[in-house]
Amino acid sequence: MIYTDPRLLSAGLIGGTVSRQVGNMRETAAQTPVYTQLGIPPEKILHFHQVHSDILLHVCTEADAYRIQTSATADADGWLSTVPGWGCAILTADCVPLFLWEETGTAFALAHCGWRGVVKQLPFKAAQSLRNAGVNGRICGWVGPHIQVCCFEVQEDVAAQFSPGSLHRKNGKIFVNLNLEILQQLQEAGLHPTDIKTPYYCTCGDEKNFFSWRRDHTKDSLLSFIYKP
Ligand SMILES: [Zn+2]
Repeated sequence: MIYTDPRLLSAGLIGGTVSRQVGNMRETAAQTPVYTQLGIPPEKILHFHQVHSDILLHVCTEADAYRIQTSATADADGWLSTVPGWGCAILTADCVPLFLWEETGTAFALAHCGWRGVVKQLPFKAAQSLRNAGVNGRICGWVGPHIQVCCFEVQEDVAAQFSPGSLHRKNGKIFVNLNLEILQQLQEAGLHPTDIKTPYYCTCGDEKNFFSWRRDHTKDSLLSFIYKP
């Protein structure tokens, strides 16, 4: 199944996070049936090499898309586009797949936000870049399945990099709430809180539906993608 936000479809976009039942999506070839089933040409889905950075690739013209498609896989952790007929994919297993789009789908973005990317303000930067792409409508956000506060225990060195309000302390342990941290960054970038959805799907706590690095320590990955026909 595909976890998604109905507002994506309303904006004319196809996207979401594929559950683990569909298989390990680490290899691009494994993703092909997912795309073809949805009528998406697999070659129009762009990929990048995720490095826990704050680097965003911009697709403003058809030429940009072809350049990314044909050149060596670039290091990046986010992608934004204003060009129909293209999409992108990311892989996660506890990190956050962050979907952002203008309400009518004129611009859309997908970012791989691990805790390092969140600390580097990737959610804020992605939302700001989308706004700077010349769109006028509201920017909407959907925070896909990731490791939630119930399971994301960290040590003091990691905790110190987050806002105190995003930490949850219990029985001498510290947990990070990535949803709260991302919500705060998106609001700083001008999004309205009611336009941001943060459903509680925990990759680490729900073994049936999700892969989790923290739980399994394997390279098995969930696929998230966004595409505009
Ligand atoms: Zn959990």
